Order: sequence, then C-alpha cells, then structure tokens
Amino acid sequence: MGTKETQILLIYTGGTIGMVKDYETNALKAVDFKELLGNIPELNQLECTIDALSLSQPLDSSNMDPSHYIHIAQMIETHYDAYDGFVVLHGSDTMSYTASALGFLLENLAKPVILTGSQLPIGDLRTDAKENLITSVQIAALRKNNRPVVQEVGLYFEYKLYRGNRTTKINADHFQAFASLNYPHLIESGVHLKTFDQFFWQPKKGKKLVVHKKMDTNVVVLKLFPGINKRVLQGVLGIEGLKAVVLETYGSGNAPTADWFLQELQKAIAGGIHIINVTQCSGGSVAMGQYETSTHLKKLQLISGKDITTEAAITKAMYMLGAAVSEKHFRTVFETSLRGEMRQN
Ligand code: ASP
Repeated sequence: MGTKETQILLIYTGGTIGMVKDYETNALKAVDFKELLGNIPELNQLECTIDALSLSQPLDSSNMDPSHYIHIAQMIETHYDAYDGFVVLHGSDTMSYTASALGFLLENLAKPVILTGSQLPIGDLRTDAKENLITSVQIAALRKNNRPVVQEVGLYFEYKLYRGNRTTKINADHFQAFASLNYPHLIESGVHLKTFDQFFWQPKKGKKLVVHKKMDTNVVVLKLFPGINKRVLQGVLGIEGLKAVVLETYGSGNAPTADWFLQELQKAIAGGIHIINVTQCSGGSVAMGQYETSTHLKKLQLISGKDITTEAAITKAMYMLGAAVSEKHFRTVFETSLRGEMRQN
C-alpha cells in the first residue's frame, strides 16, 4: 500500500465525471475542477498525497484528438519524477483511444497512469464517479518492494483495472462500460484489491522514459459491410495523403474475393498505403489464410492486426507514422507487440 509520502498527480481532462446538468437545456456541461474535487472529501483519507492539474478547457472526450494525447503525455513527462503515479480523469466515450495512444507515446513508462471517468456526473446521487476515482487513486498509489505495482497505462472502470490498450467501450448506459475481450483484467476491486500479477506489463529495466510527441493523422478506419461497392472503396483509398488504413474485416480477417476489391487494395498498397487487417468482432484474432476469403489478403501481404482493438490499431498507426517508421519496417513493427497491445505470435 502507499503512504502519505506517496504522491499522486490527478489530471482532469473533462468528461461526464466533472459535468453538471444545465437545467435550462438539460445538457451536461463541464464544471470547474476545484468544484469537482470538493465533492469527494474521501480523497483526503487515502494513504497518499494528491495534487491536481486540469486542462485549461476541459473537454467532452468526443472532442479529443492526438494534440490532446500529446499534451497529456507532456504533462506526465513534466511531472514524471515528482510523482509516484498519475490518474487521468477522462470522458468514457473515447477513453480507450486515449489510453492506447498514451501507451505508445510514453515509451519505457515505469509508473502507473490510470485513466478513469464515470457514466454519471460526480454530483449525481447514484454516481459511479466516486468509486472509480477513489479506487483509481488507490491503484496508482499501490507499491510492492518499493516499486509501483502497475507500470503501464491502465483503465479503471466499475471494479476492474484493464490494460488500457486492450479496452473498448461496449456500453453507453451500463456502469460496466468497458471490456477487454482479448486480455485478462489486471486488478479486481472487491473487499480487497486483488492483483493478477502475471498479467502486468513488465517494462525494460533501467530505461528512461521517452515521450513521443508526434502522431500522423493521415489514417482512416474502414469497416467492411456486405454491399460495400467499388466507388466507396476507391473513394476511401483515394484520399489525398492517406498513409494507413485500418481495415475492419469479418471474423478472423475475411473479406470479399471480388476482383475489383483485390485490385483496389493492390493499387493502394503499390502506392505506399499500409493496410492493416483487424477483425470487426469484439474478441478474437485475425488469422489470414484460415479461410479462402482471407487467403487473397495474405497474398497481398496485408498487415495482420492479430487480436488488436481498432482503437489501439489506429493510434498505433498514427504513432508509428509520427515516429517515421520506414516503409520497409512498418509491417514488422506493426505486427510486434510494443506495449502489450496484441499477442506476440
Ligand atoms: N460524452 C462523455 C465523454 O466522453 C461521456 C463520458 O464522460 O462518459 O466525454
């Protein structure tokens, strides 16, 4: 457990957790962060010291983009040595994207960065915000043998800590809003915090934190649907300056075998566009070549996203393009697990 010497930095970015209802319009809007903290006197009882920072303009997470990911990563970089752990309060809608992006941007992270938020505002009688926030701080403060227990970007929601880059928002109404279908959760909160140590990310020892500050947004997610036609595919693949496509295929990575479909993909690849095959199923993995309807994709040498989520795939592409990974190495690097976002083999 932490002690009062354990220092936690809370970074408030916005989201429902810090919103109140505007009774004239009935819409939720962001409030002042100090007001928010005043709603949780319980934080003072925790075995750690908490400081707080806020984005100057708290956002609904639908308005987040890579510039915000980089800004949050820089805030963590600036305060990295002074704090033992970080809790990022964030809207749940795009939290999985931010968690994935932060994982890539914060190379050699060896301290906890826990993203959390809530489905109901903190002032609401039945709010889930308090439990999510209090337990996230406790998790960020967890230490064993003088080292933080969590040394990666996690996402805590409704009694579970997940690896951030393995999560997806699966429900807009339920308190259990997230799932991590391809990787077990890391901590479960009950009467005690139960840690599943074997699943934690182990950073390389003795490496200094490197914060990457570039992401390239010349990317697109294209979800296949029965009836997709040549014009649509051509339109997407013909976007000026496009560098990478996350192609959400069926099942274990299957797609139409029509000639026009293959030819358009082939043309795009020849033009230097990276095409990453991910499954549109919530769980499971791409296995190109398992069915006839994916053998052609294998021959075209589409990049396998294996069991990665779309959120992690698109942010990984933006990160890798930002880091100027060469054309020659793009496939190998993408198919390698960099932060535990996909299975190794
Ligand atoms: N629309 C909100 C957001 O993502 C929802 C939430 O906070 O859960 O910012």
